[in-house]
Amino acid sequence: MSEPLTLRIAHLYAHFLNIYGDRGNLITLLQRSAWRGIGVTVDPIGLNEDFDPAMFDIYFIGGGQDKQQQIIAADLNCRRKKLHEAVNGGSVILAVCGGYQLLGHYYRPASGDELAGISLIDAWTVAGSRRMIGNVVVRRPDGSTLVGFENHSGRTFLGKDVEPLGRVITGNGNNGDDHLEGTAQAVGRGKVFGTYLHGSLLPKNPIFADELIALGLARRHNSVKLPPLDDALENEAHERALRLRA
Ligand code: GLN
Repeated sequence: MSEPLTLRIAHLYAHFLNIYGDRGNLITLLQRSAWRGIGVTVDPIGLNEDFDPAMFDIYFIGGGQDKQQQIIAADLNCRRKKLHEAVNGGSVILAVCGGYQLLGHYYRPASGDELAGISLIDAWTVAGSRRMIGNVVVRRPDGSTLVGFENHSGRTFLGKDVEPLGRVITGNGNNGDDHLEGTAQAVGRGKVFGTYLHGSLLPKNPIFADELIALGLARRHNSVKLPPLDDALENEAHERALRLRA
C-alpha cells in the first residue's frame, strides 16, 4: 500500500499581495490535488509570522501595488534565510509580479526608496516610465505555452545564468525588451518560478499547474506520476486566450 500523498502549501502575505486575483492559483493547486485524492493544505504566513522551512513543499507569493510591497519587503527579508533554506532543501516557490520582483536583489519603484529583495535569484527590477498592461502569451522551452495578463511598471532583468520561464510571443514579459518572461530557476534541490502573468495564471495553464504539484510532491514523496484530469474546459480557455491580442 503506497503512502498517502500530502502536499503542504504556504501562502506568503495573503492579506497584502492579493489585489490581482492571484489567489486563483491556490484554488487551482488545491482543486487539482483534491481531484486526485492528494491531501493538500494551504497555510497563510503573514507579517511577523515565523515558519519551519522543512514544513512546506510549495510557497506562493502574489502580486501587489508598490505600497503593499513596501509594507512586506522588510518582513520578507527577515524570512530570507529560511526561504533560502527551504528552496535549497527542495521546496518550490511560485512568485507572481510584485512577489517575483522581491525574490531578486532589489525592486526600485518609480517613487520611494529602493526595496531590498532576498536574492533568491540573480535578478533585479527597476520601474520604467510606462505601465505594461495586457494579455501575454509565452512559449516555454518544451514548446508548451502559457497565457495570462500583465500589469506592471517594474522591468525585471535576469542575471546571465538565470533561466527564464519562457520567451514572449505576445505582450511584454519581464521588461518589454529582451523578450523573456519570468524565471524557472533551479536553486539547490528546489526551484523558483517567477512570472508577471496574472489572470490568475494556473486555471488556464493546467500543464504548469500539474508541474508545480508534481515538484511539490517530489520533495517528500518518491517521484509521482499524476493521473490525468479531464482538462477540456481548461484547454478551451487556454486556446481562446492564445488568440487574444496583447
Ligand atoms: N508594483 C509592481 C509594479 O508595478 C508590481 C505590480 C504587480 O504585482 N502587478 O511593477
